[in-house]
Amino acid sequence: MSGPDGLPVDSLVEGTRTYRARAAALRVPLTDPADGQRPKAMLIACSDARLLPSLITGSGPGEVLELRTHGGLVPRFDPEQHTGEALTIEYAVATLRITDIVVLGHSLCEVVDVSAGHTRQGEALTGDFTAAGHRHVLKQMDVLSDYPCVAPRLADGSLRLHGWYHDLGTGSTVSFRPHLNSFRPL
Ligand SMILES: [Zn+2]
Repeated sequence: MSGPDGLPVDSLVEGTRTYRARAAALRVPLTDPADGQRPKAMLIACSDARLLPSLITGSGPGEVLELRTHGGLVPRFDPEQHTGEALTIEYAVATLRITDIVVLGHSLCEVVDVSAGHTRQGEALTGDFTAAGHRHVLKQMDVLSDYPCVAPRLADGSLRLHGWYHDLGTGSTVSFRPHLNSFRPL
């Protein structure tokens, strides 16, 4: 950890120095340079520093391709705009042929709270940010399903979308169940 006069990056530096020992203790394998990456899943999540997807899912190196953006926002597909998000999604879906995409929302998300406060006065007053957070996840899934590389694979069943919502305060995660039209514990 950084001392009283240390820079915030000092603890990161120390972390890199002890990584190999911690990885060995956690049985996290190092990567063989001869191996390419062949993840089967992609996870799209908010860049919030408090959200640790690999720790939440227990996934190791090579298992999950992550896309993290402010609020986990997925931009609408635009053939004129090759955004970093679109390139990442296309690479995962069309090149790596991943079979599952998880959109992972979370509680206390500033992006959801802001939009709830501005557009959902009723919810803001009642403090129902969880419902707003759930809808936020479904919205990103909806946008994602319109991508030209995603839509045909959803139609032929070779790709599945999952909507999850993680509670930072309790550490629990729920998933959207389409047939129940609600989020339930995993
Ligand atoms: Zn967030």
